[in-house]
Amino acid sequence: MTFDETHTRDMRQRCSWCETEFSMTPEQSSGFIVTGGICISCTENFSLSNDTLTLREFIDTIDAPILVMQPEPRQVYTANKKALELFGKELSQMEGYRGGQVFDCLQSFTKLGCGKDINCEECKIKAAIVGTFNSGDSFKGVASSLEVKKNDKTSTYLLQISTEKTGDLALVRIDGYRQSENVHP
Ligand SMILES: [Zn+2]
Repeated sequence: MTFDETHTRDMRQRCSWCETEFSMTPEQSSGFIVTGGICISCTENFSLSNDTLTLREFIDTIDAPILVMQPEPRQVYTANKKALELFGKELSQMEGYRGGQVFDCLQSFTKLGCGKDINCEECKIKAAIVGTFNSGDSFKGVASSLEVKKNDKTSTYLLQISTEKTGDLALVRIDGYRQSENVHP
């Protein structure tokens, strides 16, 4: 067997939700940054057309804050318990809102709002999520600093995310969300 044949051989993997075995190429496997790998039928179940209960159960098994984003309008479809804790919000304050509203990003308070303000054009977080929807590619450890407005005080936060597309949804794992050490005058 040549190197190439070994390299493209399918691997067996156990679905991280239903636990059935399925095969995938090493390339596909590397895209499972958030879930660790879920099979096609679970991917189909976790879609916009189904209710969110099973999906929420699944993302609660992931040991990190997770936002599930839906495309057009690009907004939070649902979130797991760790995400609610991290942002100090209820599910009703997350579902149906823009990502920036969940992060309390200053740009989300503008007239145009999250993703549409002129300052959002360069937003790496937005670019990663849009890229995930458009290409199906996963993104790992995309970081950006945000001006976060809480209780009328604005401070700089570092936000880091990883993404993975599943069905017509995108899973966004929050790898970091903390106030920046750099003190601004
Ligand atoms: Zn499965």
